[in-house]
Amino acid sequence: MRSLETLIRDEIASTGPMPLERYMALCLGHPEHGYYMAKPAIGAAGDFTTAPEVSQMFGEIVGAVLAHAWQAMGSPDPVRLVELGPGRATLMLDILRTFKVLPALLDAVDVHLVETSPRLRAAQEYRLTEAGFTATWHDTLETVPEGPVLLAANEFFDALPIRQRIMRGGTWRDRAIAIGTNDRLEFVDGQAVSAEAIPPALYDADEGAIIEDCPLARDIAGRIGARLSRNPGLALIVDYGYRETAHGDSLQALRAKQFADPLAGPGEADLTAHVDFASIAAAATAAGARAFGPITQGTFLTALGIGLRAERLRASGAGAQDLTLALERLTGAGGMGTLFKVLALSAPGLPAPPPFGDETV
Ligand code: SAH
Repeated sequence: MRSLETLIRDEIASTGPMPLERYMALCLGHPEHGYYMAKPAIGAAGDFTTAPEVSQMFGEIVGAVLAHAWQAMGSPDPVRLVELGPGRATLMLDILRTFKVLPALLDAVDVHLVETSPRLRAAQEYRLTEAGFTATWHDTLETVPEGPVLLAANEFFDALPIRQRIMRGGTWRDRAIAIGTNDRLEFVDGQAVSAEAIPPALYDADEGAIIEDCPLARDIAGRIGARLSRNPGLALIVDYGYRETAHGDSLQALRAKQFADPLAGPGEADLTAHVDFASIAAAATAAGARAFGPITQGTFLTALGIGLRAERLRASGAGAQDLTLALERLTGAGGMGTLFKVLALSAPGLPAPPPFGDETV
């Protein structure tokens, strides 16, 4: 069996330096060798741990916001409950458990999971079935039926392939991967990109400055926005990233919770980039949705009462030390509290979702 690295080297040998976007798409999504296809390892024993894997409190709060939106929409039946990139389905299970306090909502819900990894689909199906739920799987959002929608995406957008552009001698160039003189994969400056492809505010930059762009994230955000312009609904997008498009290199590889070289062992590590929330909000609002935030995950969870929820769980006998650690990890600046952000996209005409204030302009 040929390794992904061999396939990548062969492609570079025949067609020249490989744009980072293609490299990342292959590393994550190659049907046989891609990280999510072959060896996704999410959770305590895996390569990375996500908020729902830290504590049930995260999914309970996301579920409460979605349930509130459903009531604000006039309690439609059916309502599509959609998750993008559900991983081990932990968030979905916590949301559905939270919905149990509203039997009419649980009855109305029709679960749709957008997931490309056959392994993770199998894991999701196993856990949902065990809990007595059914779902429909999709490769993309496009095949999810129209209608009122509640959508969640946690650490989904960071896993989409990005482009990087690098400033060299007054020209922006696409960052690509080639085989270096020492026979290792290395970054090289690729094709020059036209001035229109660079945000005007970022055009002037120091030598070696980097700009990132995630066309697939913009495309998916536009599709969510278009859906919300046609149907009542709310989407909550949670991820680590930055509020405003800026210069910087955020590509990173994680293997067994350690940072690794993104060009070493393609397909072996989880490869991600920080999410550009401004570009996601802009794509969704251009398609007709309203955007709120992003606010930090710490603000989101704290304003919605995660502290009280932890007290209740403590009183019911849950491990006090674990709860304190989970709370700190989810909301603290040293954990996910500040780096992670929550963006809400809403259909026009619905009230602002709690705890968001003003609409993003
Ligand atoms: N939301 C989960 C998992 C995050 S990992 C959690 O919080 O634990 C990223 C998830 O997105 C995985 O389920 C992965 O298989 C899926 N994924 C990655 N790229 C995708 C794509 N292009 N389309 C659909 N799903 C994708």
